Amino acid sequence: MELNEKYIREIVEKVVGDVTASGALDTAGKQKGVFDTMSEALEAVKKAYKEFRSYTVAQREEMISIIRKLTLEEAENMAVLGVEETGMGNVADKIIKHQLVAKKTPGTEDLEPRVKTGDDGLTLIEMAPFGVIGSITPSTNPSETVICNTIGMIAGGNAVVFNPHPNAKKTANYAVDLVNRAIQEAGGPENLVVTVKNPTKESSDEMMACPDVKMLVATGGPGVVKALLSSGKKAIGAGAGNPPVIVDDSADIAKAAKDIVNGASFDNNLPCIAEKECFALKNIADELIDNMTKNGAYLIKGEQIEQLMKVCLVQKNGKWGINKDWVGRDAKKFLKAIGIDADAKLVICETQFSHPFVQVEMMMPVLPIVRVNDIEEAIDLACQAEHGNRHSAHIHSKNVDHLTAFARAVETTIFVKNAPSYAGIGAGGEGHTTFTIAGPTGEGLTSARSFTRQRRCVMADGLHIV
Ligand code: NAD
Repeated sequence: MELNEKYIREIVEKVVGDVTASGALDTAGKQKGVFDTMSEALEAVKKAYKEFRSYTVAQREEMISIIRKLTLEEAENMAVLGVEETGMGNVADKIIKHQLVAKKTPGTEDLEPRVKTGDDGLTLIEMAPFGVIGSITPSTNPSETVICNTIGMIAGGNAVVFNPHPNAKKTANYAVDLVNRAIQEAGGPENLVVTVKNPTKESSDEMMACPDVKMLVATGGPGVVKALLSSGKKAIGAGAGNPPVIVDDSADIAKAAKDIVNGASFDNNLPCIAEKECFALKNIADELIDNMTKNGAYLIKGEQIEQLMKVCLVQKNGKWGINKDWVGRDAKKFLKAIGIDADAKLVICETQFSHPFVQVEMMMPVLPIVRVNDIEEAIDLACQAEHGNRHSAHIHSKNVDHLTAFARAVETTIFVKNAPSYAGIGAGGEGHTTFTIAGPTGEGLTSARSFTRQRRCVMADGLHIV
């Protein structure tokens, strides 16, 4: 999972050159599926969906296989664009995210029709498309979410209209162009996936209100999920998290330290599943911290913590919130901002439970560690820090009772034991990948079947053969 800096620099130079030369970022009507207005985008996608209805499942699969191929080929381009446009995350990890999407997002095999037979005949249960799906995507995984949603949604027989985060529109729209190029290479319709050149709140409202948009999917913070759930339409909401990680005294401490540093620093802590605060039993806390510092973490103390707080956070109406300028930045920059010149991929510090570093979902490579007396206290505080999001939680322990007790108490959609958090989305763990984890509406790790409706077809008194 590691790429060296020289390689990354070469990629950046090459990609910036290629992209500039090809004009791939010139959105003046050249990108496939990218429209000036939402009305035009909606008209085009409606037409495409009508055409798509006559395509076979095998043809859907052919389109998906070319999306996978192009995603692998252009993973570096999109990683570079994402970092350049948003200033968040890092190229090496964003390449891995695109590779994961390409390789591990399920296609049509996920639809699994069911059959019931018996004395009264045969009944088929098939997974049918909703139609045109409206999808709102985040700034933190802009192209990854577009590609992942597209694979799942067209596998289910749908067409898609995206309204991406305005701060990541170039990267998201590059991905919309890519999936359309793939779909057309496979003989699919034009504009099966569409978006707008300049997404806004107004274009999002127009998309949500359009009667031809039959399902809405939102990946982002609490605001967008609430807006979607008030739309009166079938909606899938993938919302915010603040994942805690517990380390108890039965764990392999050296491995736990390495896994936590790798998980919490991955793409500079942007993923919603990444470890965002750590609860360590007091009898292993020193050993854990020591091992973290041997694996790329830099420990700050006392005054330095207060200084860093002024960098990462802002206070509004007596409440702490994130300083958006610092989301997803490199750990080295945080250290530099408080006068430390050191090479590190994660900043760690010891804090109290009430500290804003623990309470706020920062999405920065800054991990607070809270010492606890026993597993009961660890579970209690970790559940409180997760704030009932029921998103993700992680633990390092070999004690089955501890593993079970935490899983039961925290009730998260993703629960990773003895691995970095990204094992929960298929990187070094079993199971498929998604970048839309639907806790609030319960679909869990979304895949093609999440974007379909069940239909039942009954044949009475016949067609069964025994
Ligand atoms: P964000 O909430 O600022 O934006 C997400 C999307 O929602 C953007 O397209 C934005 O334009 C739109 N939006 C925001 N408020 C809206 C409103 N009231 N009405 C309509 N649209 C609205 O999030 P972000 O900063 O881009 O991403 C980070 C957040 O997303 C974090 O909270 C993170 O946990 C969450 N996230 C969740 C998942 C998941 O799968 N559950 C995945 C990625 C990110």
